Amino acid sequence: MQPRRCLNCKSQRYPAKVGGFCKKCIYWAKVVAQQTDDEDTRTDLSARLRLKVKRAQKYLDEYKWRERPFIDQYIDPVHLEYTIKGISVVCRSKLPFPVHSTLTTMAMEERLFLYEVLLGIIENIPCRTPFLHSEIQQ
Ligand SMILES: [Zn+2]
Repeated sequence: MQPRRCLNCKSQRYPAKVGGFCKKCIYWAKVVAQQTDDEDTRTDLSARLRLKVKRAQKYLDEYKWRERPFIDQYIDPVHLEYTIKGISVVCRSKLPFPVHSTLTTMAMEERLFLYEVLLGIIENIPCRTPFLHSEIQQ
């Protein structure tokens, strides 16, 4: 029997556990669920809670975006480039040369392997919130 996939990211790397979400998504899914619970009781959400839920949804979207190459068995060089830039941003460094042309010449298996290695690094960087690829500037 195959492990259940996460309801959000459909991860093959992390099996779904509590409530159908993987260990990466569960906290943020609970935050988003807060909004749904409050809507059910028809109370007005505070601006602070609305902002928290909006950020949580962005993190869930980020985790979904990160797992897509493993599900599709295809990774676009731009996707990989965002991941490399994300690591450089988090490490407060700059890439010494443009990497896009190098990534386009790599075979798909090589790109997927490199992506898996980089994702393993980025997921273990100690931080309170995950970095968002959408916040990386070109
Ligand atoms: Zn997940």
